[in-house]
Amino acid sequence: MSRELHHKTLVLGSGPAGCTAALYLARAQLFPAVLAGPLPGGQLVLTPEVENYPGASGPIASMALMDTMRAQAESFGAQFLPDTIVRTDFTRRPFLCVGEEASYTAEAVIIATGASARWLGVPGEERLRGCGVSACATCDGAFFRGKTVAVAGGGNAAVDEALFLSRLAAHVYLIHKRDTLRAEAIQKERLLACPNVTCLWHKRVTMCQGDKRLEAVTLEDTQTGTSELLPLEGLFVAIGRTPETEVFQQQILLTEKGSIVITSGQTGTSVPGIFAAGDVCAHAHKQAVVAAGSGCQAALEAEQWLGRNPLREA
Ligand SMILES: Cc1cc2nc3c(=O)[nH]c(=O)nc-3n(C[C@H](O)[C@H](O)[C@H](O)COP(=O)(O)OP(=O)(O)OC[C@H]3O[C@@H](n4cnc5c(N)ncnc54)[C@H](O)[C@@H]3O)c2cc1C
Repeated sequence: MSRELHHKTLVLGSGPAGCTAALYLARAQLFPAVLAGPLPGGQLVLTPEVENYPGASGPIASMALMDTMRAQAESFGAQFLPDTIVRTDFTRRPFLCVGEEASYTAEAVIIATGASARWLGVPGEERLRGCGVSACATCDGAFFRGKTVAVAGGGNAAVDEALFLSRLAAHVYLIHKRDTLRAEAIQKERLLACPNVTCLWHKRVTMCQGDKRLEAVTLEDTQTGTSELLPLEGLFVAIGRTPETEVFQQQILLTEKGSIVITSGQTGTSVPGIFAAGDVCAHAHKQAVVAAGSGCQAALEAEQWLGRNPLREA
């Protein structure tokens, strides 16, 4: 691969954070190229509808929302390219991002590569995603008002999801392969005191069942190996998220879990000129509107930084 393309600014990722960053950079005449990556439109396109994105009177089709965000950025001159970054070098400026199709250099880079939900990988799970199987209670919990649901997992995220759902669903099962939760004590206490929550210890989901929608899960006892059927209308998988940061290792500071460490309350990373926005950042609230907001913030901070740090021609 020989092509090397230079852009004033580069945005890595085309989810809500990347599209919003591109919109603001383009309007500021910073000529962004957006590398759309392996999932054009980002995580939101994995769900059919969004109900909690502000500005709509009813549910919005996720694909249409992301197409509109992209078109809006393009209308101001942002250039979307179908490439995925496989290597970066942030020790030099212009910064270098090597893609599968070409190499890209830029004076400032905004990383908006997101974090993918981890799934159980059991039969039926993928087919029923969006039809009873979800990885986000804040996003999809409202569809399960008055219904029976379960959360799979045993960490902080699982306990938070179960507590959130307990306020909406008729009954919540927490399915965990051990008999202790790896969560903050206060959250554990709250969960165990909830009258409509039952913890199913030493159990793991081995299959999601249902024709068009989830109807039940098969549970295996991790001690005895016996199986049983648990009728359910919703299953929330809460076993963590994987930040998409492999290509930034050794280049910028990451947390132990691989999220990008950003300057408190801002979007700067450990390398001046490299900014990060959205779910890829540590402590980000994993919601589209938050990602979009931080994409805007990253673009504004990049604009200010470029004003103070113009690249001198060699
Ligand atoms: C099933 C599901 C339902 C959801 N429902 C809702 C909801 O109802 N409401 C809500 O507010 N939020 C919802 N969310 C959460 C929401 O989708 C995320 O918070 C949001 O998409 C995060 O935006 P982002 O731009 O930070 O990252 P993402 O949307 O994850 O986008 C990341 C982008 O980076 C790109 N990328 C990754 N690696 C590379 C690479 N190496 N090079 C170049 N590009 C790369 C990907 O192709 C993608 O375009 C849901 C999430 C899921 C999974």
